[in-house]
Amino acid sequence: MIKQKKTGQIIVISSPSGGGKGSIIAGLLQNNPKDRWLSISTTSREIRDNDIPGETYNFVSKEEFEQKIVEGYFLEYTNYVGNYYGTPKEFIKEKLDAGIDVILEIEIEGASNIKKLIPEAIFIFIMPPSLKILVERLRKRNTDDTDKIMKRFHTAYKEINEVTKYNYVVVNDELSEAIEKVEAIIKAEKCRVDRIEEVYLDTKEEEIHELLINEKEFKNENLSEKIK
Ligand code: 5GP
Repeated sequence: MIKQKKTGQIIVISSPSGGGKGSIIAGLLQNNPKDRWLSISTTSREIRDNDIPGETYNFVSKEEFEQKIVEGYFLEYTNYVGNYYGTPKEFIKEKLDAGIDVILEIEIEGASNIKKLIPEAIFIFIMPPSLKILVERLRKRNTDDTDKIMKRFHTAYKEINEVTKYNYVVVNDELSEAIEKVEAIIKAEKCRVDRIEEVYLDTKEEEIHELLINEKEFKNENLSEKIK
């Protein structure tokens, strides 16, 4: 009766550093590796111990990044806490055409640029349970010096106030529950009426349609008989 769009959707996931979006995204990919793809960003930031070049990011110098901007390589890019981060355009269209959902793990400015370009994308903000827990998570990571942690906390604090620009907010208290909530959002988004491509009747349904119309006419005739 209805044909729904088979194309994939862009799912933008943001959270302040320490908000836990990485673990949520890992869970989403594990649940459905075939139909989901995480875009690998390019960055000019320094490589951290837990980074795997080519997997967590493609690392380039500031100059190389600026050259790529000029070449129109990025769908969106930003300067975050002194470093460039950008989403390459490549692969996104072919993944969407193949029905694969594209996950973009990006910060808020990038998300608002994507919203201007692709308003039908799904925008999800992952919220830490509290500011206290956020600071603890940032400290535990131990990847940045105190000055950088403070900078990230300050940025995170500002970002939390931008949550209303997103379509959904998921508090990441209990990880499995947060993943379930994001799964529910993705499922619901597949049922949006603006994803209906076509409404049609097959032969059998057309016959039934005819029968119903005839029956209605018959009833109407009967009714007019009764009124007479
Ligand atoms: P980190 O340095 O902790 O890996 O990332 C810092 C921030 O940059 C995170 O909020 C992350 O989501 C964001 N980020 C990563 N890749 C991109 C990107 O391609 N574009 C934008 N706008 N932000 C990104």
